[in-house]
Amino acid sequence: MKLADLHLHTHFSDGTYSPEELAAHAREQGLDAVALTDHDSVEGCERMQSACQKEGLEFIPGAELTAEVTGQEVHILGYWMDLSSGRLRSELQRFSGGAAAAGSRHGHPTQ
Ligand SMILES: [Zn+2]
Repeated sequence: MKLADLHLHTHFSDGTYSPEELAAHAREQGLDAVALTDHDSVEGCERMQSACQKEGLEFIPGAELTAEVTGQEVHILGYWMDLSSGRLRSELQRFSGGAAAAGSRHGHPTQ
């Protein structure tokens, strides 16, 4: 059986670890695949990708987008986006621009 964690954060949003530390922890935990889903950011994805390669883990680029539906905050997880897309980067900046500090968005345990 293969194990995956598809919802991880680095210090690029409200996580504790760097991409390299997170990849090392994932391998220690026996995971086979991980997705990085920082809040409104793909900034950590390239480093996470090479860290996962070194650790022998499958890597899935992702992001957790902050949205609002009828006054309620909703988080949308997206995966396998094109990290080289300029449009993706500029839209993510728009998302994170006026938002509250990442740490206050929701209470994940240290990831
Ligand atoms: Zn999250």
